[in-house]
This record gives sequence, structure tokens and C-alpha cells, in this order.
Amino acid sequence: MFIFRAALCLLLMLLTMTSAVWAGVRLECPDKVSQGEPFYVRVVSDEPVEIVRLFWGPMTVDATVRSEAGAWVALAMLGTGSMAKPGIGQVKASIQGSDGPRELTRAVRITSRKFAEQRLKVAKKMVNLSQAQLDRHYREKARVKKAMADISPERFWNGQFLRPIPGGISSTYGLRRIFNGEPRKPHAGVDFRGKKGTPIKAVAPGEVVLTGSHYFSGNVVYVDHGLGVVSVYCHLSAIDVAEGQFVSAGQVLGKVGSTGRVTGPHLHFGLSVLGQYVDPMPLIEGRITP
Ligand SMILES: [Zn+2]
Repeated sequence: MFIFRAALCLLLMLLTMTSAVWAGVRLECPDKVSQGEPFYVRVVSDEPVEIVRLFWGPMTVDATVRSEAGAWVALAMLGTGSMAKPGIGQVKASIQGSDGPRELTRAVRITSRKFAEQRLKVAKKMVNLSQAQLDRHYREKARVKKAMADISPERFWNGQFLRPIPGGISSTYGLRRIFNGEPRKPHAGVDFRGKKGTPIKAVAPGEVVLTGSHYFSGNVVYVDHGLGVVSVYCHLSAIDVAEGQFVSAGQVLGKVGSTGRVTGPHLHFGLSVLGQYVDPMPLIEGRITP
């Protein structure tokens, strides 16, 4: 009986100790996200913390720690792609404080979502590219990849994302496109309706990291909002900013056009989170907030 009591006592002691060690630090994130959905993750600590590194699938980001109302808060954005496998994922936070490293984990369920489907019959020459066109496309793809991979360690976004142009949506994010019976990559962004010349606004503050004239996307602007969040604006008729320029939320980046491989003027808008295109609408419409 005594041994049992001693063991129970020890167990209780250990439990209390564990909770004491972990007291004062919280990892906050949603319990479930749907395919293609971005989400915020917060680590809130009563004690000073220096580094908060977050892990989610292949994504890793060091969230900037800011002191807010007597607590230390690290905020980051993570997300899933429209082709993410439904199931349980895990957000892990590795926290470096004055009393050593700590680790917290939270399970997040990825739920499936029904995406619209579009079947198109198009002329073969519109689908198949020549070698020269392919070479150009790969060169442009490499430039984009490089710009996306260079993650700014500072967070310029604050959880508020503006609508880049007022127009309605003609093609939703995640749209499954089937050309001549062959499935193509799902739509990685949102197509907004807009007349040629409509001013396009930066959705959040950030640095223009890439501009150019690309084969598929036409005139493009890429804005780095920090911590792996990059917004992409395509098919512009004019570009009004330069690489390296810092823009505020709402600043005009260029004008709606129909450059690149498109049938008419519109804005293709994409939002990449740590290299993964997510549905920007929950952020723009304020359905997901930090
Ligand atoms: Zn598009």
C-alpha cells in the first residue's frame, strides 16, 4: 500500500512539475482546416521568449516575437494546398526561452473540400508548347522560385488583407481544370473580373521582390509580406512599381490587363504561404483573423 501511495505521490509530483514547466506558454491554432485554407498560429508566453520556430508538414518558419500587453506573442501564417491529403497533421512549435528550449504540438485535421470543375476543349497548339516557349517558361519559373524561397524574417502583414480590385470572381481558387480530357494543375489563385486599366492595390504592406513579363502570367508583380507570405498579381497592362520598392497596403502596383496566355482582361491574384498557394479569400473577406 505504501509503495502504491509513494508511486502515486511521485506521479502527481511529476504531473504538477510538467504542468508548471509548461504553464504560461500556449500554442494556438485551429483544430481543423480545409484543403487550400490558410491559418494563423500564435504562441503566447507569459515569460520572455526569443525564438519561436514553427513546423507544419514541409513548412518551417521563425515567427517574430513581439511583446504585447505583458505577454510575448509570436504570430505566423501556415496553410494547406488545394491538393493536400485530408487527415491529421501536426503543428509543432519549438520555443527558445531563458530557461531552455520547449516544444509544444497541436493536432490539426485537414478536411476535404469540394472544388468546382471546368472541362475545356482547346486547340492543341494552345496546350502544347514549343521547346523555345518551354525554355522561357522554365527560366521564369526558376526566377519565381528564387524570389519565393528568400523568406523575409520580418512580418509586414498584420492580419488585414485588402481586396486587390473591386470586381467579382470569375474563377475560384482550387478550380479543377480539365483540358481535352486531361487534368491540369488546379487553379492556384483567384481570377477577379476587371476592365483593362483598373488600378490594382497591394493587399498588405511588403517589398516588391519580382516584376517581369512572363510567358503564361504576362506582366507580373510579386510582393513579399514577410514570414513566407507572398502575393502575386498577373496579366497586368502596366506595372507601376519596381523590384526592391517597399509598398504600403492599398498602394497601386499596376493596372489590370490581358498580357500572357489569357483570353481577356482580368486579375489573377495568388497568395503563397511558405511556397504553397492557398485560398486568399478567407483572409480578404476577414473570415480568418489572427
Ligand atoms: Zn487565374
